Amino acid sequence: MVVRYAVQCPGCNAKILLRLGVGNDQQQPFFYVCGKCRAATKGVLSLNELSKTGTELKLEDGQLLTSDEGCTQTIHLHPDFPGTPDETELDKSAFMFHASILGIDEIVAFEQKIGLFDTFVKEDWPALRRLTTYYMNRDWGHFDSGLNVLISDGIPKNMSEMMRHDFIHKIYDHAFLPFISLGPPYYPNMRAECNSIWGAKDTIQSMVAYAVREYANPEFVQLQRDLFSLLELYIDLRRTIAAGLLLDRYPSTAVEKRATLRLFRDDFVSLRDFYIQVFEQCHRALRYIVGAVNMSKRGDENKFPAWPSPPYGRPPAQLGSMGAFSDLVNANKRIWLKMLPVWDSHWDEFFDRSLRNDIGHASVRHRLSDGALERSNGTLLPYLDFVRIASRSLIPLLAVLNFMKMHLIFATHKP
Ligand SMILES: [Zn+2]
Repeated sequence: MVVRYAVQCPGCNAKILLRLGVGNDQQQPFFYVCGKCRAATKGVLSLNELSKTGTELKLEDGQLLTSDEGCTQTIHLHPDFPGTPDETELDKSAFMFHASILGIDEIVAFEQKIGLFDTFVKEDWPALRRLTTYYMNRDWGHFDSGLNVLISDGIPKNMSEMMRHDFIHKIYDHAFLPFISLGPPYYPNMRAECNSIWGAKDTIQSMVAYAVREYANPEFVQLQRDLFSLLELYIDLRRTIAAGLLLDRYPSTAVEKRATLRLFRDDFVSLRDFYIQVFEQCHRALRYIVGAVNMSKRGDENKFPAWPSPPYGRPPAQLGSMGAFSDLVNANKRIWLKMLPVWDSHWDEFFDRSLRNDIGHASVRHRLSDGALERSNGTLLPYLDFVRIASRSLIPLLAVLNFMKMHLIFATHKP
């Protein structure tokens, strides 16, 4: 559905006809850029059943006009879908634009998955968020009754702690499945590689002993808590993330067309904080991943082989303990993923170090007038390129949480 509102630019007084696609949220923040003076004006489109159009428009500045008489510009945008700011594309909706590149089947499937995830967020997410609080507090009484609210059957009467660790991660995997399947198809293989490390029969006893040691580490629990709270932020940012996932599916032949698109929704500051946190916490978690590999391959989590490739900014002296590993800079921690070929092959698609460093700079800002991020070195990066990379964050978050789940399962397993 598209609604029309005539507005007046607060900067140059130009009269503008806004044609707004209507998204799913009660409140749909957006901004428009005046074609005459290039100033951006923010607004919110709200669903309101009592109004004539079923929607209501509020603008931070400028006037809402009662008729479109005298309008010299028409701006067509959607608060959720990337679209083109070019007026010659006016006859095409954002939906049809993407369908012409990805195919109608893929766009329909995309919308279905967004709808499925919305249903989860609306119906089950508050209960899952509560369950996560009980889980992180290891408050098993409330956890067990909360689990019964979410899943009515298949829950055994006397649940062990090990089963609780398993259940909550399975619920997350299931709940996030629509978005997992929109992202790069790496999650199942990363999980399989993790399981192959933990599941080797001849090392089970030593893996249990290692898991028990890490499980008692307060930093382990804190990290798990941080990772779950990042999934909560992911949900808050899901509209922008969905736009990134959609654009990430574009074939290489359509890269030029992608470059013409804009997202008229500004989540830059939240998305930047989210991305930096995901970056930092996932690298912090490498300790538990590399430790498990050391234990499984060499029978001691502190036993490192020679550096897989020369480290940055330090001599390649052999590491002697997990403590020394934890002190490494992220770039050097990442080198050790070479011991896990599948994780190694995907990691850099999630985490771009130069992007992280530039984005993290306080001076970086999102120029609403043309959709560029001004980086600290003066170069420009399209905002949507950053959105695409940040939108992949779900996969490493879940993969890392699953790796940590194996520690918990091994540590609490009672034979
Ligand atoms: Zn203007």
